[in-house]
Amino acid sequence: MAVDLLLRSGRIIDPGQGLDFVGDLLIEDGRIRTIGQHLTVNEGLTALDVSGLIITPGLIDLHTHVYPGVTNLGVMPDTVGVGMGVTTVVDAGSAGSRNFEPFLETTIRESQTRVLVFLNAAGDGLIREKGELADLRNVTFAESLEKVKDYPGVIRGIKARASASVVGDLGVKPIALAKDLAFQAGIPLVVHIGNAPPRLEEVLELLQRGDIVTHSFHGKPGGILGAGGEPLPEVLAARERGVLFDLGHGTSSFCFHTARKAFQAGFLPDTVGTDIYSQNLAGPVFSLAVTMSKLLALGLELPTVIAMATAGAASALGLAGTVGTLRPGVEADVTVLQLCQGGFSFSDSEGERLDGRYLLNPVMVLRKGEVTRLSGDCERARW
Ligand SMILES: [Zn+2]
Repeated sequence: MAVDLLLRSGRIIDPGQGLDFVGDLLIEDGRIRTIGQHLTVNEGLTALDVSGLIITPGLIDLHTHVYPGVTNLGVMPDTVGVGMGVTTVVDAGSAGSRNFEPFLETTIRESQTRVLVFLNAAGDGLIREKGELADLRNVTFAESLEKVKDYPGVIRGIKARASASVVGDLGVKPIALAKDLAFQAGIPLVVHIGNAPPRLEEVLELLQRGDIVTHSFHGKPGGILGAGGEPLPEVLAARERGVLFDLGHGTSSFCFHTARKAFQAGFLPDTVGTDIYSQNLAGPVFSLAVTMSKLLALGLELPTVIAMATAGAASALGLAGTVGTLRPGVEADVTVLQLCQGGFSFSDSEGERLDGRYLLNPVMVLRKGEVTRLSGDCERARW
C-alpha cells in the first residue's frame, strides 16, 4: 500500500532535473508531491530521516530477462527489480509476438516492479538458447507490428541478437529485417552485439537515432575498439547520429579493459543495463547497484552513473520526464541508496579483478509510493 511519507535530509540526486543537493522529498497518494529544503508537513505524516543516504529517482535496468518458466534464463521481475532497489526493469527479448501475451498476463501484470519490454523480432523469443534468427521465417513481422500497436505502453523496442550463434549463415540479414520491423513500428531497434558475423560495422550501418546497442563494452573480437585501442570511427559516427550504447553486462559481455580504453577516449555508456538472468545473479553481475559500482571503480562520477540508470534510461525508452525522475506529479518511484566505503574487489565477465572504494547499496525502494525496505547494510552487501 502506498503511504504518505516525507524523506528528510537525504542527498537528492536527480540528473534529469539537474538536482544534487541535501533536501527533503514529500510523497503523497503514490506520487511525488514536493522536493525542497526544510519542508514543513502536516502533523501525523510519517517522516523518515535519511541523512547520510542518497535519494534518486527509481532506478531503471534497461536490460534484464524476467520471463521465468518459459525461458530458462528468466528470473522474477521483483527479484531483480524492487528486491534490488530497481523500480523499472526492461525485458530484452525474452518474449516475441507469440508468447508476449502470456508474459503480460502471468508475469508483467503480477509484478510490483514496472516491467517494460523489448519484443524479440523472433516470434518465440528466447525459448531456445540460440539460433532464433537463423531462419528469416522466425521473424513474425505482421504479428509483431500488431502487438506493438496493441500494447504501446509496454513494448518500447524491438530486440535482435547480432551474433554468429544466433543468425547462423544469414549474416546481417535478420538484423536488417528486424530494423525494418522496428522502423515500421516506430520504436527503437535494440541490438545485442557479440561474435561476428555479422560484423559490428555492418550492424551499426543499419542503426538510426534512438536505436540501442547493448553489450557495448564486451571483450570479444570485433568490438567497439580498433587495433589502436580507440573507439572505431563507425562507433563514433553512430553516437554522433544519436545511436545509444547500453552496457549490458551479462555473463560474458562486460570487459574492464574495453571499458577503460573507451572511457579514456571519452566514450561512456548512455545507459547501464545489467543483462541480469538466472545464471549470472550470483556473479559476475549480482545487481544493477553492483554494476553501477563497477563504473565508479572505473573512475566515473556518482551523478554520471546515476544519470545512466535514471534519466538516460528513461530517454532511451521514450519516457523522459515520466520515469527516472523526481518531478512533482509523477508516480513515486524512488530508490534510497547507501554509499558504502571500504575496499571492494569487483570482477568483469573475463574474470579480471578491479579494486574500488565504493559500493552502492540500496536500502529502500518506493514503487508508486509503496515502500519496500531492503535488508542491506554495508557489511552484508554482496558483490
Ligand atoms: Zn540479454
